Amino acid sequence: MKKPIVSIAGKQGPFENVKKALSALDLGIIKGKSVLIKPNIGRAATVGRGYNTHPQTIAGVIEMMKEAGASNIAVGESPLVGIDTMEAFTKGGVTEVAKKYEVKLIDFDAYPPVSKSIPNGRVVSETKVCSPIYEYDILVSVPVAKTHMHTGVTLGIKNMKGCLYRHEKVRYHQMEYLNGSFTEKTLDSAISDLATILLPDLTVVDGYIGMEGLGPSGGKAKQSDFCVASFHPLGADVYGCILMGLKADDIPHLRLVSRRLNMPLKANAYETIPAKYEEYISPYEVPPTNLSVEFENIKVYDKESCSACLSTLMLFLRRFKDDMTPYVLPDGKFHIAIGKGVDNAKEGTVFVGNCTRFMKDKGIFIKGCPPVPTRIYEAITGREPDENEPEVE
Ligand code: SF4
Repeated sequence: MKKPIVSIAGKQGPFENVKKALSALDLGIIKGKSVLIKPNIGRAATVGRGYNTHPQTIAGVIEMMKEAGASNIAVGESPLVGIDTMEAFTKGGVTEVAKKYEVKLIDFDAYPPVSKSIPNGRVVSETKVCSPIYEYDILVSVPVAKTHMHTGVTLGIKNMKGCLYRHEKVRYHQMEYLNGSFTEKTLDSAISDLATILLPDLTVVDGYIGMEGLGPSGGKAKQSDFCVASFHPLGADVYGCILMGLKADDIPHLRLVSRRLNMPLKANAYETIPAKYEEYISPYEVPPTNLSVEFENIKVYDKESCSACLSTLMLFLRRFKDDMTPYVLPDGKFHIAIGKGVDNAKEGTVFVGNCTRFMKDKGIFIKGCPPVPTRIYEAITGREPDENEPEVE
């Protein structure tokens, strides 16, 4: 049987990388079809910081879709909660590209969502999806390559979470298993639940400037100058990982998608063009697993937590520690706990994450696996944070 093809290009800048990678694929299926490009423009961020898909990557995809005979092309996004889609497009250079190529920009959140059931969902049984994605024949996922503190990486399959309507994205971070018990984090299972009903028809991974370390928001920009394109959603992500110096086998949501949708996770199950691509590999720093949590007047209890809760805690403290002064205990410290092994926390501690549920009677319990930093802030203070800085992807 013919192996699915994964095309790889690099070292030519975002626009030429995309053109080269896509020109190695048979784009015959595009002719006469309407195409919706779904980049990752989750934040209102300037170009080159690794937050968003590069506008020249999007330009390359548009040009190739036009050349392939697409009848109609649009670019759409539902960014992080609190972000204005059109502002994010403008700041991220996408509005200019759309003008040049005369393609429509769509704010997914401006339309009523459609409710879709997930018949075999482990975590999600029903979900609100942005309706515009069902109005196009071909959905192209164009993620920017990033490491992700909660999900390992964010590539083409994870980018589909940006097709969820507004707060629905946040809900995926706060769910629990519907039935049974599984070893995977609920967020990874939720992403694989979504994949059972929504996958891209074509994926183009933008590895021109990605993000490494504490992604998707707190990491460093990483210039890696590669592109991976494939009609096979898992094949694109498997090689996205390889180009980032990672193994798809180490990424729980990719393992789950492979298992549940019977798609190969092994690199040799795919044919790459070119056969030799190693010169384009550019290793990304992974999210740290042991962060030193040293903040003045903060007492952190951390026993048997996982990196997701630890990273969330770090982000929360970095952003909100100065607002926690009214919530200190008589010893003058703000107490906060993560991990299933925490057993010695003081009365009045803030317990973060489902693993600490058994301690909930001793203080404030915030459910989620992990909950996002703004959720922690809201649970403690009873109000929303002043700024709408995004944090969930
Ligand atoms: S609650 Fe936190 S520590 Fe527990 S599994 Fe979830 S992310 Fe990990």
